[in-house]
Amino acid sequence: MTRNFLAIGECMVEMAPTGEETYRLGFAGDTLNTAWYVRRILPEGWGVSYLTGVGRDSVSEEMLAFFENAGIRTDFVQRDEERTVGLYIIQLNDGERSFSYWRSDSAARQLARDRARLDAALVAADVIYFSGITLAILPKEQRGGFLEAVKTARTRGAAVAFDPNLRPRLWETVEAMCATVMAAAAVSDIVLPSFEDEATYFGDAGPVDTANRYTEAGASLVIVKNGPGEVLWQADEGPRTFQVPPVTEVVDTTAAGDSFNAAFLASHLQGADLETSVAAGARLAAQVIGRRGALVDLSQAV
Ligand code: AMP
Repeated sequence: MTRNFLAIGECMVEMAPTGEETYRLGFAGDTLNTAWYVRRILPEGWGVSYLTGVGRDSVSEEMLAFFENAGIRTDFVQRDEERTVGLYIIQLNDGERSFSYWRSDSAARQLARDRARLDAALVAADVIYFSGITLAILPKEQRGGFLEAVKTARTRGAAVAFDPNLRPRLWETVEAMCATVMAAAAVSDIVLPSFEDEATYFGDAGPVDTANRYTEAGASLVIVKNGPGEVLWQADEGPRTFQVPPVTEVVDTTAAGDSFNAAFLASHLQGADLETSVAAGARLAAQVIGRRGALVDLSQAV
């Protein structure tokens, strides 16, 4: 029987510099990155779908074709008659990358507007994956309904995984971000935070504080990533740690957390123990940060 992994969020057009005045058009976004890697790792018996919104213009068509070519199902992609997809441009200034975004009225922001459609996607999922960015882009009056729908799906038996992915610039206030992220953790089984962000916005003194906070919110498994530092995970048996492999040349940390989540979840969902799954996450992330770009073609990675 096929099992279904559903990722929910926003994919954007990425314009990455290839020369002085030329850019390469690609597609990326935190939850999409995870879905892309999950699809590469999980075997045939799993379906991987992406729930987002796109327009009806040609770049939206290209994005859909990109999903399908990657083996990601598009049944739950909503077509918006008035909007199109968000876009960002990466610019290099003396080797430093800077990002400019055009996403304030993207089609993906409407992904939870049609509740019946959202429920249909959630009902079909065995695993639901979303992030703080998924919540940030929703109109604020739709966030509660979205989390209610996820909660209902979880009550029916779906497993819910959530990466807080704290990006205060996408939120009205830091308080709104923190409150909504904690509400999301309360409807999640697995929470996958990155310690540096959590320390900044929640004031956690150490990874164990981050793990405790999400455990108290209701998550049964918390995996705290910490850049080159130890990953700390907390399940029933209390906190455990794993030293990630050293990376001698970090080329581009884009999608480090997204790829970690993908390899961790794919391993965990196939029944591996937690240490093996954390190691798989760290191994893929190490390979991804050794290359440029979010979506790195590493067919032999895990
Ligand atoms: P982060 O979200 O920055 O905590 O990173 C996610 C994961 O990527 C970490 O748990 C590591 O497995 C990996 N990672 C990130 N930065 C580094 C680094 N400098 N060296 C080795 N691994 C890293």
